[in-house]
Amino acid sequence: MDRILLDRIPLKFDLDKALEINRIRKNSGFEKEFVKVLKIAEEKLSCKAVLRWADVGEIKNGTVQINDVVFNSKVMADNLKNIDKVFLYVLTIGDELDNEDRIEEAVIKDMVKGTALYQGMRYMEDYLKEKFGFESFAYMNPGSLPDWPIKNNVDLFKLIGNVEEAGARLNEHHYIIPWNASSGIIFENGEGYLNCTLCKNKCIKRRAPFDQQEYERIFA
Ligand code: SF4
Repeated sequence: MDRILLDRIPLKFDLDKALEINRIRKNSGFEKEFVKVLKIAEEKLSCKAVLRWADVGEIKNGTVQINDVVFNSKVMADNLKNIDKVFLYVLTIGDELDNEDRIEEAVIKDMVKGTALYQGMRYMEDYLKEKFGFESFAYMNPGSLPDWPIKNNVDLFKLIGNVEEAGARLNEHHYIIPWNASSGIIFENGEGYLNCTLCKNKCIKRRAPFDQQEYERIFA
């Protein structure tokens, strides 16, 4: 089973979790509107993913071979040095909310789409835990670090193959259409690698502090 299509990822939101990740106060007017849009999203969005199980080949001089493609990335070379197999993936939540006239607030629409993407990712992780015994997850995503820029989506999509089954395509700048999608490499990593430790951006979504020592170890 080298390639897996998840074409009906259920979107059933945990309200408390959705409020927490969007930092929305309970019993506020904003919550009421947000919940209304969550319900529309449950009914309308079609969340899908394609995964491909791939071999990690030769790693040398900051390059990594995955199946028959060689990627240039020092971070990837470091992350995959003891790993034989990875999952490549693309996940989309669909564009069904884009022309939904029951939603007035664009900001709420964006928050709900982000929540749907979060939920889709958790579903994919649960699937990999159950079917393949994954215990810990780490991700590398094209464009998340200068070391592996967004143009790598092109080769990643070729390796995954037929990404249209997940409703995905790339625009001329190599970003995934529809927006609110995710692509990348999933690997097991007990040390809990996070892109954020090597990212210098000022960012409200940061999940770990920047690690200067680790940055110098990899990029020196
Ligand atoms: S700090 Fe922000 S931009 Fe940088 S990797 Fe983390 S989430 Fe992405």
